[in-house]
Amino acid sequence: MNFLDQYHNCQLCPRKCKVDRSRGKVGVCGETSELRISHVGPHFGEEPSISGSRGSGTIFFDGCSSRCFFCQNYQISAAHHGEIYSADRFFETVKDLIDKKVHNLNFVTPDHFWPHIKELCLKLRALSFPIPKVFNSSGYQLPEMISEYSEFMDIFMPDFKFADPDLARECMGDERYPEIALEAIREMVDARGFLDPWDPSGERVAERGVLVRHLVLPGHVENSLETLDQLHAEFGDGLPISVMSQFRPVPACFAKNSLTRGVTPQEYDLVLAKVKELGFEKVYTQILSDQTDYLPDFNNSEDPFPGHRK
Ligand code: SF4
Repeated sequence: MNFLDQYHNCQLCPRKCKVDRSRGKVGVCGETSELRISHVGPHFGEEPSISGSRGSGTIFFDGCSSRCFFCQNYQISAAHHGEIYSADRFFETVKDLIDKKVHNLNFVTPDHFWPHIKELCLKLRALSFPIPKVFNSSGYQLPEMISEYSEFMDIFMPDFKFADPDLARECMGDERYPEIALEAIREMVDARGFLDPWDPSGERVAERGVLVRHLVLPGHVENSLETLDQLHAEFGDGLPISVMSQFRPVPACFAKNSLTRGVTPQEYDLVLAKVKELGFEKVYTQILSDQTDYLPDFNNSEDPFPGHRK
């Protein structure tokens, strides 16, 4: 079986579009079977457990199956900004990244290009390149795919965006997100456990395990509180979480007249108070800032994340 066969009747994510991507068709993710990548390079803006001192070796794929209208990476998830890579170019590019001594390979929004990534991982394994691999995702993954992902991935970094099905429907068109994501995260934790070692200073970078991210949305504190309740009820105090305040409105927010501002200090404080009340022990938070530093600019191909270096 050729590794491209999975694109024929594509059911790689919960959308299950069943389109033949190998014939140039696209489903919700907007991508054919041609591998398209927007940015490759060491990244210092992930949590310190992932970025460490030498950076995380990020590979940003074009397209996304979640398609949240407020996507902070909209230039690549919706506007399809990247270049086409052959499997050989992909492999050589990743080898160059490893040569830069990054701490890990960080596959960002990888599920719709999983066949290419799996093929790459098999080649790396055959040539004994021992480097941790991060599956950096929306949480909107097929739970039944997680065991296959975990054959190759050491770290899972899923979002848990919505506990509110109505909000999920409004933002990404699938009210099933909360149950799908929670089940997928359950499978990830079963496969890899919690992030380990846990060292928020970043001196010891993580080698395996799960870190769940949640981006607080302006005007939707209740969703964040319920998200935290569900994660805590399911996984307890020890689940490592990253509670992010960095939301910035993107053009689609103004077009839709929804989520047109950032998160206020009062909103973020309410969410952090809930984190404390529940007793989460391993937590990354962010300094709330009015700057747009966190919003990447993929038009700057050399460095889309200048604000992350400040
Ligand atoms: S990966 Fe893309 S084409 Fe395949 S099922 Fe998901 S959204 Fe549809």
